Formats: sequence, structure tokens, C-alpha cells
Amino acid sequence: MARFRPGEIEEFFSRLAAQDPDPRTELQYKNSYTLLVAVVLSAQATDKGVNKATEPLFAHVDTPEKMVALGEDKLREAIKTIGLFRMKAKNVIALSKTLIAEHGGEVPRDREALERLPGVGRKTANVVLNVAFKEPTIAVDTHIFRVGNRTGLAPGKNPREVEDGLEKIVPDKFKLHAHHWLILHGRYICVARKPRCPDCLVADICRFKDKTKPPGKRPEVEASILKKKLRTSGRGAR
Ligand code: SF4
Repeated sequence: MARFRPGEIEEFFSRLAAQDPDPRTELQYKNSYTLLVAVVLSAQATDKGVNKATEPLFAHVDTPEKMVALGEDKLREAIKTIGLFRMKAKNVIALSKTLIAEHGGEVPRDREALERLPGVGRKTANVVLNVAFKEPTIAVDTHIFRVGNRTGLAPGKNPREVEDGLEKIVPDKFKLHAHHWLILHGRYICVARKPRCPDCLVADICRFKDKTKPPGKRPEVEASILKKKLRTSGRGAR
């Protein structure tokens, strides 16, 4: 795969930025605590599904103290539509207790402290640092992993390799929002099964070899239809 020239990377992110200058997470939250909880709940679940459960929950439970007072049984009931809800309820209660005991009930602006919380890994810590504290971190989820590899921007065998690759190549001025631009690009355009290459803003820069073609405009199909037509009309096509 041909390597990107710096001008191309600048162009790639400039186009995503022009389309959506101030991208936001699609998870609903009220403060850094509810953001942390929403991100923990979103593991292997859709943002939409998480929002459906958290909207009524966060209306009256928006601090670690209130979450501990609610208790694991009621929390489990409130999030039972989300995958892995039993384990997630346990983690949310445990992380809320840790926040109260070790951080005065606040979400720490510190990667190591975040990653020590139950149910919080590197990706969740990166999202919280980026969204709540405006740090230029890039949390690699399934969409960014796919886009990083498919486009050739930051190929890697695991999320950490893709994260490190993106850290290296994304120009500083785009780093704060790169995470959201790439997630949204992966969620709506560079989708898993059949990427929407004809609708893609960065198709001419992307290195993916098997780009999809617009329906009805596939040159190889058109060529064979034309050949057939010429043959049947007797004009031949040799
Ligand atoms: S051209 Fe296709 S494969 Fe490349 S980024 Fe766009 S949608 Fe993804």
C-alpha cells in the first residue's frame, strides 16, 4: 500500500473537518460522570441503545453518590436492554464507589486513575479524556480500527497499533476532533460490510483497493453490456 504524503493527510482531515467542524459524541450525558458511565455501558452496544436506557436513568441519577444509593439491583433493571448489563451494572456501582472513596466523587483527569476504575480500559479513558477534558486523545473503537486499516492511514494488528499510528500521522490541529470524525466516517460512510465509496469525501485519497462503485455505473459491467449490444446489432465489438 502506497504511503501517504503529508499533504494528503492534511487534505483528508481538512475535508472531514469542513463537513462537520464541531463533531460531538452521539452518547447522551449530563456531566463527566454520566459520560463515563455512558461510555462504560456502550461497550459492544450501540450509542442509540445506550441512550434509550440512560435517558430516564440520568434524569435522576447523575452523580456517583446517587448511583450507589440507587444500588446494583435497580441499576441492572434500568439498563437491562443493553448487552452485558449484569457485568456493566456491577462495574458502574464499583467505579462509583471508587470515585467517592478515592477522587472526592469527581472523575479524575488522569489516564492511569481512569484505567484503574472497574470496567474502564484504555479506549474508555481516551473517550473521557477527549470529550470531558478536551485532550487530543484518539480512542480506537471498531469503526476507527476498520477505517485506519482500510484507508491505509494507520494500519495495525490491534487497536493500540492503530492508535499509535494515528497519533503519529494526524496533524496537531486536527487531533482534538480526529476521534469523532473517524468514528462518524466509519459509522455512516466507511461501513463494515459495504463501504459507501461513491459517497465518500476522501475516496481519491483512500488507499483501499476494492472501493465500491456507484450502482449502474460500474465500468466493467457497462463494457460487457455494450459489447453484447454491439454484437446483437451486427456492428461487432472486437
Ligand atoms: S473510499 Fe471507501 S474504503 Fe475508502 S474511506 Fe471512503 S468509504 Fe472507506
